[in-house]
This record gives sequence, structure tokens and C-alpha cells, in this order.
Amino acid sequence: MIDQDVLRCDFPAYLRKIADFTDDELIPTEPEMVDAGAVPERILDRMAALGLFGISIPRAYGGLEWTMEQQVRLTFEFTRASCVYRSRFSTVIGLCSQAILDHGTEEQRREMLPAMAAGELVTAFALTEEEAGSDAAHLRTTAIRDGADYLVNGSKRYITNAAWADAFLTFARTDPDEPGAAGVSALIVDARAPGVSTALPRYMNGHAEAPVGEIRFRGVRVPAGQLLGGVEGQGLKMALRGINHARLHVAATCVGQATRMLEETTAHLNGREQFGGPLADLGAVRSTLGESYAELEAGRALVMESARTFDRGEVPRHRIAAAKLYCSEMASRVADRCVQLLGGAGIVGPHPVPRMWRDVRALRIYEGSSPIHQRNLGRAMIEQVRADGTLPDTFRAR
Ligand SMILES: Cc1cc2nc3c(=O)[nH]c(=O)nc-3n(C[C@H](O)[C@H](O)[C@H](O)COP(=O)(O)OP(=O)(O)OC[C@H]3O[C@@H](n4cnc5c(N)ncnc54)[C@H](O)[C@@H]3O)c2cc1C
Repeated sequence: MIDQDVLRCDFPAYLRKIADFTDDELIPTEPEMVDAGAVPERILDRMAALGLFGISIPRAYGGLEWTMEQQVRLTFEFTRASCVYRSRFSTVIGLCSQAILDHGTEEQRREMLPAMAAGELVTAFALTEEEAGSDAAHLRTTAIRDGADYLVNGSKRYITNAAWADAFLTFARTDPDEPGAAGVSALIVDARAPGVSTALPRYMNGHAEAPVGEIRFRGVRVPAGQLLGGVEGQGLKMALRGINHARLHVAATCVGQATRMLEETTAHLNGREQFGGPLADLGAVRSTLGESYAELEAGRALVMESARTFDRGEVPRHRIAAAKLYCSEMASRVADRCVQLLGGAGIVGPHPVPRMWRDVRALRIYEGSSPIHQRNLGRAMIEQVRADGTLPDTFRAR
């Protein structure tokens, strides 16, 4: 339930609240979270009360309805803390709510969005399968119409929040004779329905406190009213709405993570003395920091510009993909340099930077891996230059 005073906040006051929450609660709780191997319940309750599950959901459906520019500015703040915290509400604010908002029926919106905004209904986005990772259009899970229901069979893997979600936005083949994207639909599946089971992996390299999970569907009956938008064959198009939103949030997450790593590392370098003075006085160290700062700010500017374009009503999907590609690579480069600058403290002991180094590595793999974005952007450039001589999403005055 979102606190009443939060619902009354204007944006500057809300941003301040989230910055304070990050500094006073999220960052100090990181060691406890790491020891417990999970985000503490009291932090999840605070996230819900502060409206973090509802930042992208319209007021009409119980959310806070911040613009995309405001959402990324909030993300820059709360992802100065471990990005594991964000992953607990990420699938609600981006992937799932936005697909439901744009493509769900009014009944589906009314049933799901207010509870999602309040943090009372956690949704996971179930697309990836063992045989369908980068090549998602060839997924094999089926949802075959059987009277008033769909009968769902198959399994998903690497699904964020799978083990504690209340519902899965599940992508399944409703037309088994159509092997590509045109045969795929989106269904809202109750996580407690008979035939649904989940499992967690034994090991996680990064994101260990919010592990991804497997979902198995064995003859699961899903009422036909749970077909997103009541339309078959549009599942992957519907998914893209949430994916574009989430990709920009991921890019902003990379900026937040790189900011924290550079703050922590610079503080260490100011305090650590070698060769008769602080390491921060060495020219080579300053060059590494300066280069990292320039890349961080380039990433921040790209995210902000993409968000502003988004708020003007044009979804700059190529620029968003470029932001996700650039920022995730930037965060990994910065993380690697920070670990180097920390020396042994970057490998031995509880410093937060090495943990973040492992966490940011995953950001180059999900929401489209870097090679997939490079390939798609190159293809889009070639096709558009062929068609009209311009580059994608440059919005030239012509
Ligand atoms: C922490 C985490 C959270 C995730 N959360 C979710 C979630 O909530 N929901 C969900 O549905 N999925 C989720 N995923 C899955 C994620 O989207 C997939 O891991 C991703 O799409 C890549 O698929 P794959 O792992 O099967 O890799 P593969 O498809 O096997 O690809 C492996 C590598 O091969 C290379 N490659 C593949 N295809 C090409 C190509 N055409 N050109 C060049 N190189 C290529 C890339 O380097 C790629 O990283 C998550 C993954 C992780 C790690």
C-alpha cells in the first residue's frame, strides 16, 4: 500500500525521499542482505509504501505516474544501492505493467494495475526458454485453446522474480502450426494455479540475493479471459512495449551503479597512501578516474535524451537500444577499472565494488545481449540509409 503522504508529494520532494531512502536504508542494509542471501522483508515493505512498484503506473490505476524522465532520474538514485533491490520491482514497473497498460483490456488493467502499483501483486515476465534465449521468437511453450480455457505446457528459465511472483506474463504458442512470432500470444498466468511450479538455481554469478528462476507449466488451465488484450498472435509485439521501457530503466541502472562504484573507489584512493602519498595523487590514477567519469556522463546524457524523446510521445527504440548497449558496457568497464584501482581490496573482503562488478556483468546479457543490440542497430542503420539516407532515431529537420 502506498503511503498517503507519498501520493501527495510533488516530484522534487519524492526524488528527495528516494535519495534519502537509498542513503539511509538501502545502502546500509546491503551487508545484511548479502549475509541473508535475500532482500529483507522490511525493505520490501518500505519499497511498497514509498510507491516504488508504482512509479510508471498512471494515477488512474493507483500509481504515481512519473514521466519517463522522472523515472530515470529516480533510477539514477535508487541504483546507487545494489541493483538487486531494483530487480524486486523491475518486472512490475517496466516489462509487465507497460504491456498490460498498452495492450490489456480495460478489465485486465483494472484487475491488475492497482494491486501491482501497491506492491501487492508481483508479476514476472516469462519469455526465455532453454531453446529460446536470444532467438525468443522460436519459443516452444504452448497454450492451446480447450473450451473456455487455454491449456499451457512448457517451461521457462532465467525469469526474474519467478519464485515469489503472484502472476506470470507468459509468452506461449497459441498456434502450433505457426513456428515464428506470429504464433505467439501473451497470457496472464496465476502463479498458484494447479500445474505451475518454480525452482531456483543452485548458483548465481551476481544478483545472488534475488536469483532468477525456472517456471514449469504442466497442463495449466488458464481462463481465456487471461489472454492479454483478448488477442492471439500479438504476444511478441505486446512484449516490446514493456521491453523498450525496461531497457531504458536498465540503462539508467548502469548509470546509478557506475556512479556508486566511482564514488566508493575515489574515496578509497583519497585515503590509501602508497609511495609517500594518496593513490589519488598519481597521474595514471586520475586519468583512469577522469576517463570513467566522462563515460558515465555520456551514458547519463544518452539516457536523459532518450527519456525526453519518449515523453514527447515518440518511442526512440533504436536510441533506447543504443543507451542500453552503451551504458551496460560502460558500467562493466568502470567496474573493472574500479576493482583494479582497489587492488587487493577489490578481490579480498567485503568491499561493495567487487559485488557490484559481478552484478553489472548480467546487465550486458539480459534485455537483449550486447551482440544482439549491435547486430540489430547495424541492420537498422543499413536499412534506413538505404530507404532515405538518414540514421535511425536521429529526428533530423528535413
Ligand atoms: C539476471 C538475469 C535476469 C533475467 N531475467 C529475465 C526475465 O525476467 N524474463 C525473461 O524472459 N528472461 C530473463 N533473462 C534471460 C535473458 O533475457 C537471456 O539470458 C538472454 O536473452 C540471452 O539468452 P540466453 O541466455 O539463452 O543466451 P543465448 O541465446 O544462448 O546467447 C548466448 C550469447 O551468444 C551470443 N549471441 C547469441 N545470438 C547472437 C547473434 N545473433 N549474434 C551475435 N551474438 C549472438 C551473445 O553473446 C549471447 O550473450 C534474464 C537473464 C539474466 C542473466
